[in-house]
Amino acid sequence: MGLGGMDTKQRERNCFVDSCSSAPVTSLGQQDLCLNHFLLRCYEKLERLDPRGGRFCSETLDAAAMRAFIEECSRKALDVSLHCKDLSNLERGRLLDILLWAGELFLLLRVPRFTFAASAAPVDSSVAALAAAPRS
Ligand SMILES: [Zn+2]
Repeated sequence: MGLGGMDTKQRERNCFVDSCSSAPVTSLGQQDLCLNHFLLRCYEKLERLDPRGGRFCSETLDAAAMRAFIEECSRKALDVSLHCKDLSNLERGRLLDILLWAGELFLLLRVPRFTFAASAAPVDSSVAALAAAPRS
């Protein structure tokens, strides 16, 4: 092949990740990915979108882009789980995990931010109230 290296017909047969020679099963953000790298990309990105996780960075992402990714990610995960015939139990489990996580994030991101921090307080006070309650 030429020196161009951008021959898209050649690229279409392989996973987008350079070192990977697996056949792509789906795509994410215009990149063809094999199952393994699709799962990795999803986990990586979901981790960064999850406000409950340590790797959350809201500054670099806008709400519309987050929602678009979450939608794409869950749509593709469902698609792969329905159309890939030879998935292992572990791979199925991961696809399901991504689907559930994406669904959860979709709901979380629609809720105003302050509700996350506030949720700890009522639990503490009800535990204190329980402890203080006289036994009958
Ligand atoms: Zn790959």
